[in-house]
Amino acid sequence: MIDATVSHIGRLTSLENMAKTHNLGFPRIGAKRELKFGLEAYWKGQATLDALEALGATLRKRHWQDQAALDLTPVGDFAFYDQVLDMSFTLGNLPARVQGFHGNVLDNYFRVARGRSAQRADEHAECCGGVAAGEMTKWFDTNYHYIVPEFSAGTAFTLDASRLIGQLAEARAAGVNAKPVIIGPLTYLWLGKAKDDSDKLALLPRLLPVYVELLNTLAAEGVQWVQIDEPILVTELDAQWQQAFETAYAALAVVPINRLLATYFGELQENLPLACRLPVDGLHLDAVNARDEVSAVMAALPADKVVSLGVVNGRNIWKSDLNAVLDWLEPVARQLGERLWVAPSCSLLHVPVDLDSEQTLDAEIRSWLAFAKQKLAEVTVLARAINDGREAVAAELDANAQAIASRRTSPRVHNPAVKAAVSRIEAALGRRQRPYAERAPKQAAKLNLPLYPTTTIGSFPQTAEIRAARSRFKSGELDQAGYVAAMQREIERSVHEQEALGLDVLVHGEAERNDMVEYFGEQLDGYAFSQFGWVQSYGSRCVKPPIMFGDIRRPRPMTVEWITYAQSLTSKPMKGMLTGPVTILNWSFVRDDQPRAVSCLQLALAIREEVLDLERAGVRVIQIDEAALREGLPLRRAQWQSYLDWAVESFRITANGVRDDTQIHTHMCYSEFNDILPAIADMDADVITIETSRSDMELLDAFDSFRYPNDIGPGVYDIHSPNIPTQAHMVSLMRKAAQRIPAQRLWVNPDCGLKTRQWAEVVPALRNMVAAAKTLRAG
Ligand code: GLN
Ligand code: ZN
Repeated sequence: MIDATVSHIGRLTSLENMAKTHNLGFPRIGAKRELKFGLEAYWKGQATLDALEALGATLRKRHWQDQAALDLTPVGDFAFYDQVLDMSFTLGNLPARVQGFHGNVLDNYFRVARGRSAQRADEHAECCGGVAAGEMTKWFDTNYHYIVPEFSAGTAFTLDASRLIGQLAEARAAGVNAKPVIIGPLTYLWLGKAKDDSDKLALLPRLLPVYVELLNTLAAEGVQWVQIDEPILVTELDAQWQQAFETAYAALAVVPINRLLATYFGELQENLPLACRLPVDGLHLDAVNARDEVSAVMAALPADKVVSLGVVNGRNIWKSDLNAVLDWLEPVARQLGERLWVAPSCSLLHVPVDLDSEQTLDAEIRSWLAFAKQKLAEVTVLARAINDGREAVAAELDANAQAIASRRTSPRVHNPAVKAAVSRIEAALGRRQRPYAERAPKQAAKLNLPLYPTTTIGSFPQTAEIRAARSRFKSGELDQAGYVAAMQREIERSVHEQEALGLDVLVHGEAERNDMVEYFGEQLDGYAFSQFGWVQSYGSRCVKPPIMFGDIRRPRPMTVEWITYAQSLTSKPMKGMLTGPVTILNWSFVRDDQPRAVSCLQLALAIREEVLDLERAGVRVIQIDEAALREGLPLRRAQWQSYLDWAVESFRITANGVRDDTQIHTHMCYSEFNDILPAIADMDADVITIETSRSDMELLDAFDSFRYPNDIGPGVYDIHSPNIPTQAHMVSLMRKAAQRIPAQRLWVNPDCGLKTRQWAEVVPALRNMVAAAKTLRAG
């Protein structure tokens, strides 16, 4: 550009030099979980497909309005169930078992997602009937679950861009500057599973033309920028995968569209040079987790490329320290000029929608928080400070500084007694008195269980009556005594059902627990709760992570009365049911002002007191769920061991203070655990129950090379699907298990808790399960 032109259009140039704002993805569930309720109504046959589609459109539109202040807005981040499954449908990669379906695409989509679509009496009885649901696993190190793409050597891809194009048209009608979001080809392949053990990467030559066609379709629609998510760039990639990136992005480069390559959740490390040389038009970096890499990226990246910096944490709910961010960002911004885009670190899928919905949150704590909408407001303030100077947003920055200072110094955050107890922890606290081989006979003598004992994972269906009683209690309509009586009736029902079914080790059913983490958080000092702080876990399922803001202390027993009541109703052993420290930590929004390990040890000491109280109350079996232990693993293997060290130690401190004849169970919802089996064995639980049924016991392959020393219950009933497993199927799964693990150490149980199911499904399924155990005992 020549000088005269610059001065002539000076104002315009300064506009062009401005940092832009954008977002990588917005939570789709709705501020009041509208999507959940819409989906469930449709699945139950209470709402039409049109109504569900209309709800989707309403939510998308509202969410775009919520992002109106941004320069570029994500489109295609909305999914009715899962964005990875959306991508599978976009790429025409449908499992063979649902191909040729003649009904609506969305019905077929739900069949893959959850094994079936809506309950509609006649017309779709055959086509919408049950199929095996797609496998589900965790999205990187988050608590979001995606549906695993299925591949085989013969997998072919065909483009179906209709969903994206439709949403693009809606976005434009809503006046949105749309930036379609897709999952990149390598991350897509990496997330999937080759059912025939073929090489997934061999599919790349077939996959790339479909991506090229997709980008061409978007370009033809006039799209300027497309965001291509490749979060696997923050993981360890071997040379083949790195090479595949080069091949793939060279192929995509022919399309006349601007490509923003998005990485998040961690550092690029050895993939940094690769990410910087790919022929794309911009790179998004997680500048919260990978801030130290920003200067290296700026040095490596060609000077015409956009640098998108995710400076607002998309994974937690704390306000950013905006002045501190600016201290760091301003010099960077001066170097980058118009090449700088400002954004949250990752999709906001992982945080709740709107802090403004909260009516009851303590005002001081609330002043420390930011949900999705507030995080986008932070992005906007930061960009204005960059573009117009801090004085332009002085009021916002002052208010932010006050909130940050208040949190740092609040006496509600720090409890010296708790800090002292953590500093006194020593190894003996985490050791059982005797090894498993010596404890097991003592427990057997006390519990008197048959071979292949049956049990369940803890929860029974959360019925409408339970939910009604809870909400009447919360609103004050029902008093404490009335609530306790209502829950006791549910416990009684669970116990009677289990006795009638002939289960061996019973559970109280967890009726009184809205959520396995929130329930404990509510009773611990140092936790705060939101009313609408929902985050999608999978499909219509949401969790409301409690907010750990301060040092943790257990003021009083949390479960003892419920469990002893349940035990009083039966002579069979009743499991005390607790959530373990690692899971509470991993499913909470945790402090960012102390190491996770320290927060976890504080939780361990609190739950340990509960374990010992249960034992003192005569409870013979105590289950400590560590459902989320695996998902806390760092994305990079190099960091696994240090996580496992403190996570396993925290569990051991919680569990291992009991007598030899008290049986400790743990439960994990894993999709893969082969690689951490030694750490799991180190926890030294007497019994572990795990998720295995969807993978056809493949998970147990690990036991070929590692001899798990204690008892194990591989789940035989897929509780994520409404389908009822047959006795024969469960027997065959257990026989596969018995090939790897001696029958004397096997338990028969579902994959996970039954709270999301209905009694009408649970009773026949468990009846079949108990019958399966009897068949197995007969040999
Ligand atoms: N005890 C819990 C339940 O049954 C375990 C849930 C889980 O592992 N996610 O609901
Ligand atoms: Zn589970």
